[in-house]
Amino acid sequence: AADIEMDAEDTLKARPPVVTIMGHVDHGKTSLLDALRGTDVVRGEAGGITQHIGAYQVTLKDKSKITFLDTPGHEAFTQMRARGADVTDIVVLVVAADDGLMPQTIEAINHTKAAGVPMIVAINKIDKDGANPQKVRERLLEHEVIVEEMSGDVQDVEVSALKKTGLDELIEKIQLQAELLDLKANPDRAAEGTVIEGKLDKGRGPVATILVNRGTLKIGDIFVVGAESGKVRALVDDKGRQIKEAGPAMPVEVLGLSGVPLAGDPLSVVENEARAREVAEYRKGVKTDKRTTSVPA
Ligand code: GDP
Repeated sequence: AADIEMDAEDTLKARPPVVTIMGHVDHGKTSLLDALRGTDVVRGEAGGITQHIGAYQVTLKDKSKITFLDTPGHEAFTQMRARGADVTDIVVLVVAADDGLMPQTIEAINHTKAAGVPMIVAINKIDKDGANPQKVRERLLEHEVIVEEMSGDVQDVEVSALKKTGLDELIEKIQLQAELLDLKANPDRAAEGTVIEGKLDKGRGPVATILVNRGTLKIGDIFVVGAESGKVRALVDDKGRQIKEAGPAMPVEVLGLSGVPLAGDPLSVVENEARAREVAEYRKGVKTDKRTTSVPA
């Protein structure tokens, strides 16, 4: 019931957008994610250690922030959606200007449309000799993605992840889209979040990257996540820094879990450990029932 409880309008504050990069293999998703990571003004100060935790956040010159899901490929997006976790606010569709629309580009367009998430098209590899951005725009028309240059309302931008050109423009377009979406969350409540990825770390035990949806997750918080529970022992950001709390749209590694949760699992902070165990047991029960009934006789 807590999941659908609404926060009062006056408790809501602006939050950063959460962006997923999609596109065909080799069109430059990873390169673009790396290039965008480089726009972070805080990273240098932090010592520059890049931790791949499934998502990262950049702080821009004007102090605004953007969160990027660092899990290229459509699997994470579709898996999370299938589990009811719609964490992405904006999709950046990467299309290589020399290769054009390919099967996974079209798949990405379909996923994005089905999710009802606004799209920005990044026409990448613009530095290459064979680059033909106009052809990309024309082919997009066939899939009812009408970019601004073709008098549509889908923003597009020519970039080179390799030469790092067009990045500022891409960021501006993400910010513009985010403004239109008017993204808000209440930071002053018990945290709720979504698992971006979970793993068993040799030294640290079960670790989950959580994207906080609303509220603020703090050290010592007791929580339920999927069929697991725990108490926040440590929070680590995407720069490897130990932090004390994480607010809306902030991705953070959480230590102190009873086991490894699945991508897309919801996390809720609860009042005490008894309640956490109760909810986790209930969820485990539900999961077992489902498994039993779905086994063919
Ligand atoms: P992904 O599979 O979509 O993640 O693609 P990658 O980021 O791994 O890029 C695939 C290849 O394209 C790599 O060899 C990159 O160096 C290259 N690449 C990516 N972006 C650019 C670009 O803007 N220009 C050029 N010339 N090559 C690029």
